[in-house]
Amino acid sequence: MRGARYGVRINRKASAQLFPFERYFRGFEDVAAVRELFGAATARVLKQLKVEFFSFRFGYMGTSDVDGHLLISTHHLRTSDFRTLYLDVVHELCHVRQFRDGKRLFYQNLSYVDAPSEIEAYQFTVREGRRLGMSNAELRSYLKVNWITPAEHRRLARRTGVLGPPRRRRRPRH
Ligand SMILES: [Zn+2]
Repeated sequence: MRGARYGVRINRKASAQLFPFERYFRGFEDVAAVRELFGAATARVLKQLKVEFFSFRFGYMGTSDVDGHLLISTHHLRTSDFRTLYLDVVHELCHVRQFRDGKRLFYQNLSYVDAPSEIEAYQFTVREGRRLGMSNAELRSYLKVNWITPAEHRRLARRTGVLGPPRRRRRPRH
């Protein structure tokens, strides 16, 4: 506890403050896509789900791989358009399902867009976006998050079916 050299004390046993998901997000138990994830357990899962808020301006949402609670940026919650928030929650609930299934959420050695957990969550979310009537262009724009490169964005767009296969490079003529 004590760093004698520094003359200060640090209590290392801080805990994050968690809130009930349903205090902020209502009605998700009636969304068909969410019911597809949790089946008969949907209401119970959402009732037990906890949310931790953080106030950094970067980052949007995430799911803890320690206990499966959600992490949400208060800035994102306050400023993003409704459809983006809705899809982001659906995306995170897909991670909650993966966590409950004992699947791995993070892959340190893979790029974000190559992680099987992300590919599955994005495919699931894109399907929900299509149900809402979103076009491929709108979905591609939804997939454009600021921590991936243009090449990674194209890869993610292809894997989720919102961008066609790469054009074959024409052979140089002699
Ligand atoms: Zn994700």
